[in-house]
Amino acid sequence: MDHYAVLGLEQGASAADIKRAYRRLSRRYHPGINPGDRAAQALFERINEAYETLTDPVRREQYDASGSVAPRPAAGPLQFAGFDFSVAAHGQQAATFTELFADVLHPPAEVEAARPEHGADLHAAVTVSFLDAIRGVQRQVVVTRQDACAACRGAGRVTASEARCAQCGGTGAVRWARGHMVFARSCPGCGGTGRLRHQRCAPCGASGRVVRSDAVPVLVPPGTRDGARVRLPGQGHGGRAGGRSGDLHVTVHVAPHPLCVRNGDDIHLYVPVAVHEAVLGARIAVPSLEGTVKLTIPPGTQAGRQFRLSGRGAPTAGGERGDLIVHVNLVLPEVLDERSRELMREFGRLNDEDVRRELREASHQTTERRT
Ligand SMILES: [Zn+2]
Ligand SMILES: [Zn+2]
Repeated sequence: MDHYAVLGLEQGASAADIKRAYRRLSRRYHPGINPGDRAAQALFERINEAYETLTDPVRREQYDASGSVAPRPAAGPLQFAGFDFSVAAHGQQAATFTELFADVLHPPAEVEAARPEHGADLHAAVTVSFLDAIRGVQRQVVVTRQDACAACRGAGRVTASEARCAQCGGTGAVRWARGHMVFARSCPGCGGTGRLRHQRCAPCGASGRVVRSDAVPVLVPPGTRDGARVRLPGQGHGGRAGGRSGDLHVTVHVAPHPLCVRNGDDIHLYVPVAVHEAVLGARIAVPSLEGTVKLTIPPGTQAGRQFRLSGRGAPTAGGERGDLIVHVNLVLPEVLDERSRELMREFGRLNDEDVRRELREASHQTTERRT
């Protein structure tokens, strides 16, 4: 480091200037005034070294002759580069010495090398029909995710012909003042080389990240229940600096079916049956996952009766099948014409059994118990 800069002086400064500068600085940065402050002590040692060199005529001559060119700062955190009393103090006025050096002791994050970082998980939802959920189906969900920029492969910059770095004017260092103290650090734009072989990537604005919308195929497995989740590894947000991508979690909503209800692995199907079919018996066609099956309705079938077709329900996780349970849903005819009405009256006369006998007996017993 330049001994003159440490004392805030020009190269041709007189012996009196050097003494005055030293007295002023040592009053402020003496370890006795800043007990236990290692940064203050290190700075004070540099002030001393500069003072001892420049007040010794032989050493000063040697120093001036060898050239007081400041070495190029190494890559990394800020380094103290000397005082400059020619500029007015600006920036915050720090109360303590440690506060003054906060930026030196805690270098900004941009200096740190990029660490691998996992991409975040994504969540999406898909709605499938009742039968698609039972049979299994492939769907697509459109997800908007952050990913590495394809143009620069996430680096934020692309290779270009060599040019002088505009950020540091080709010196490789950027200087930064705090009060009268000047700090320097390796230029973040060119890594301290002063030359640029890269230029910022335009498609991603140098961030290395882009936001994309993609249609992702989602396989809904057979037998999926309402609210089940399908996990797609690596389909979430992209990772940073070689970190793995997050996962995509898809929640499956199963739309209700007008005639089917699922209960566990059994499927309950409510089949409309006409009065004459229930009375006389019939063979009716019932839809199942394997196509239509014929079901025999015996004569005299009551409303609500159930028929169990084993092994025709929903697929289970163990590779088996639940049952298909057919419920008889008796549908009364809409009798509008006089001929049908007459037939029903006649039917009633011929079949005059008391259908509410049990009900009447039950209510009679209740009345007896009360009195
Ligand atoms: Zn890019
Ligand atoms: Zn630069």
